[in-house]
Amino acid sequence: MIKFLDIQKINHTYQSEIQEALNRVADSGWYIQGKEVASFEQAFATYIGTRHCIGCGTGLEALSLIINAAIEIGTLSKGDEILVSANTFIATILAITENGLHPVLIDAKPENGQLNENLLEQAITKKTRALVLVHLYGQCAYSEQIHNICERHNLLLIEDNAQAHGCYFKEQRTGSLGYAAAHSFYPGKNLGALGDGGAITTNDNILAQTIRQIANYGQSKKYFCDFQGRNSRLDEIQAAVLSVKLKYLDKDNNARRHIANYYRQNINNPHIRIPLPPDHQHEHVYHLFPVLCKDRTTLQKYLQQNEIETGIHYPIPPHKQACYAHFKHISLPVTESFHKEELSLPISPVLSIEEARKIVEILNRFPN
Ligand SMILES: *Cc1c(COP(=O)(O)O)cnc(C)c1O
Repeated sequence: MIKFLDIQKINHTYQSEIQEALNRVADSGWYIQGKEVASFEQAFATYIGTRHCIGCGTGLEALSLIINAAIEIGTLSKGDEILVSANTFIATILAITENGLHPVLIDAKPENGQLNENLLEQAITKKTRALVLVHLYGQCAYSEQIHNICERHNLLLIEDNAQAHGCYFKEQRTGSLGYAAAHSFYPGKNLGALGDGGAITTNDNILAQTIRQIANYGQSKKYFCDFQGRNSRLDEIQAAVLSVKLKYLDKDNNARRHIANYYRQNINNPHIRIPLPPDHQHEHVYHLFPVLCKDRTTLQKYLQQNEIETGIHYPIPPHKQACYAHFKHISLPVTESFHKEELSLPISPVLSIEEARKIVEILNRFPN
C-alpha cells in the first residue's frame, strides 16, 4: 500500500535531532513560553521575512487571533465584511464568523482552484475591510491584481498560509505579503509539529503586541489584563521540534516539487485534469497534488484497489456545510466543482520516484 501521507516516515528522517530536542525540553523543567518558543519564533520570522512571529495553539487560532486583535486595535469592527477564498478548509471561514464578521465568499478560478481576482471588485461594498487569501494546496494565490485591488480599496490583506510554508510570490515568501498571515503546524502540514501548533507572522508592531497579549489571557504583564483574552500558545516541545524541521523545509519542499513535476510530465489520461502550475516553480510548495475527475468516487476506489491511498480536499465546501445553513443558497460553481471532483494524490518529501511511477502507471490505465 502506498500511503497518502507517511508522517511517521517523514519524522523518522530527523529522528535523532527530534529525539534530542524532546529530551532537552523534558529535562529543562520549562514547558510554556520559554527559550525554545522564542528561538523558533525568531527563526520562523526570519525565514518568512517578517519582523514578528507569534506562536499560538493552532492554525485556526492564528487566523482568529489576527482578526480578534485587529478588532481590539480598531482596524476591523464587528459587522465588517471580509472577502475570502470560497475554495478552502472550514477553519478559514470559522475564524471570520467566530469574531462576528461577515465572510463574503469569492469563487475560484477553474484553471487552478485559487481565488478568482476578477470577482473581487464586484463584491466590495462600503462595509468591506479585508481580504483573507488562502494559498490553497500550497500554491501562491497572490497576484499584482490582488495587490492593486487591496491598495485601491484600502483592504487589509490577511493570508491563510496553513498549506504554503516556504512558498514564494516573486522574491517574497507567502506569509509576508500583507497585514498578517496565519500558519498551521498540524502534523500533516509541510512544516508539521508532533501535535497542534500555529503561528502568526506580521510586520505590524502594534498588531504583534496585541496578538501576544490576547493569546496569553489578554495580559500586558502577569495578572494585568487589558483584553478579554484567551489561552492559545505554542508549547516548548512543539517549538523545539519545529526548529529542527524548519532547517529542512526548503529541501523537503523541493522534494515535493520533484514529485509534482514527475506527475505533471507523466500523467496522461483524458478522464483526469491537473490544475495549472504557477508561472514559477517556487510559487508552489505542493502541500497537496490535486487532480480533478468527473467520476472521483470510482477513481478513488480504483486506486484503493490498486493499493494507492488518496485524500479529498475537500468533499463539502464551507457554504454547503450544515453549520452555515444561511449560505446554502449561494452558488459558487467553480468551488463546488472542485469539491465534487478533487482527488489528492500521494505527495511528500519521502515519496519515492518509484512510487510516483507506479501511481502514474495505474492512473493512466483508469478506468480500464
Ligand atoms: C489546516 C488548515 C487550517 C487550520 O489549521 P489547524 O492548525 O488545523 O487549526 C486553516 N486553513 C487551511 C487552509 C488549512 O489547511
